[in-house]
Amino acid sequence: MVDKTTTPAKAKKPLIVMKFGGTSVGTPERMQKVAEILAEHAQEAEVAVVVSAMGGVTDMLIRAANEASQGDNERWKNVRRELARRHREVADQLLSAAEQAAVLPRLAEQVGNFENLCSGFSLVREVTPRAMDTLSSLGEVMSANLLAAILRSRGTPAEAVDATELIVTDDAFGNATPLFEETNAKTRQRLAGLRRRGVMPVITGFRGATREGICTTLGRGGSDYSGTIMGAALDADEVWIWTDVDGVMTTDPRLVPEAHIIPEVSYREAIELSYFGAKVMHPKTIQPMMKKKIPVWIKNSFNPTCPGTKIVPAATNGQAGVKAITSVSKASLVTISGGDRLTFTQLAGRLFSSLSLGSVPTLMVTQSSAENVLCFAVHDGDLKRAKARLEKAFELEMLHDHLACIEVLPHVAIVVAVGENMKGTPGISGRAFSALGRRGINIIAIAQGSSELSISFAVRAADMKEAVKAIHEEFKL
Ligand code: ASP
Ligand code: MG
Repeated sequence: MVDKTTTPAKAKKPLIVMKFGGTSVGTPERMQKVAEILAEHAQEAEVAVVVSAMGGVTDMLIRAANEASQGDNERWKNVRRELARRHREVADQLLSAAEQAAVLPRLAEQVGNFENLCSGFSLVREVTPRAMDTLSSLGEVMSANLLAAILRSRGTPAEAVDATELIVTDDAFGNATPLFEETNAKTRQRLAGLRRRGVMPVITGFRGATREGICTTLGRGGSDYSGTIMGAALDADEVWIWTDVDGVMTTDPRLVPEAHIIPEVSYREAIELSYFGAKVMHPKTIQPMMKKKIPVWIKNSFNPTCPGTKIVPAATNGQAGVKAITSVSKASLVTISGGDRLTFTQLAGRLFSSLSLGSVPTLMVTQSSAENVLCFAVHDGDLKRAKARLEKAFELEMLHDHLACIEVLPHVAIVVAVGENMKGTPGISGRAFSALGRRGINIIAIAQGSSELSISFAVRAADMKEAVKAIHEEFKL
């Protein structure tokens, strides 16, 4: 018999992880806006929040630590005042009296931690990567506590959660890698109670902890990654990354004013774009989504009605070949010739293992086996390290003149056309070449992988803007 008194089970609300970056929580006004966005979405969805430090705070903390370690006590004390002032200002403007009473002591405690750590660095004239992680991620602890208190002041049940209780990582301080299985289990367990009670967790971005509970960080800009790590752990329906731009653009609007937002990109396109410097998200952000195929949205907290860009597991058929163009303006090309003593594979093997030992990432690689020559591009910031590694790896050959040489071509830019649907479409590179040729731009090197996800062109840095424009125009982006 059907019991007439039971109401049909309410449809389960979707779970959305929403990550807010530093500019989105940079001032009291911005924090208030975030609280409004969250209160609104909490009506139709279950929301878990991941938050960055207030804009500029992480830079300030790192600077203070370095100055303290040089024995400069004046400067970190100024930072201490500024740290207290900025968070205090938010508390003063947005918290109820009761919440102020609860949260101000916690903020004071973090400022106290800052002070203790900096005095320590100053005393021993050193800051270790491990201590730096604890210090540089204090901003997240403060912003998460504030945001949770703001939400509560406005009637939305919320609680700050320190990600050191959720994200388990290895001990590569400064750039730690999450241990996903442990992270998933710990996150689900720690957040289960809050979720059951309908309390919105406000989780610190950027930080995690080793198995032993020592604080680590996920690398600069790592809160995006924290967002998707949480999304995967909680089996979220979506992850929304709230930032200060409307979404992923066809290219940098400072280079091409006609650049515009792309409604949808694939995981692989997004990874490619972020690797080559498109500033929308941390390059590792998509990685935790791969297995579960959870969509990620890039949205603008300054313009929340704009739909933004949806990042989906795979490109759909209807999408264009070239979707976006990204570029790296400060790069160098390094060419290494193996001479006649080394086979090409020996040359390549030695070259890449030496770069990998130095953790030098390459931007593009081209080769000519017949000439026994390899050429690769690196960020200018990595050039010195790359050269030093190569000179060491090929020391003997160079000494005996068996290796022709290592040559560096500076002032190079890498322009990358990205689009998953370039695959199997003939004529795309031809069109790009012609577009550059018509404008008299010389291509120094080219690379395209067999995945056909992107084509990279090395051009003179002075030609970069024109090259991006030419390709943007050619493909009518
Ligand atoms: N606050 C950290 C940083 O500035 C992490 C982040 O914002 O994503 O690098
Ligand atoms: Mg960021």
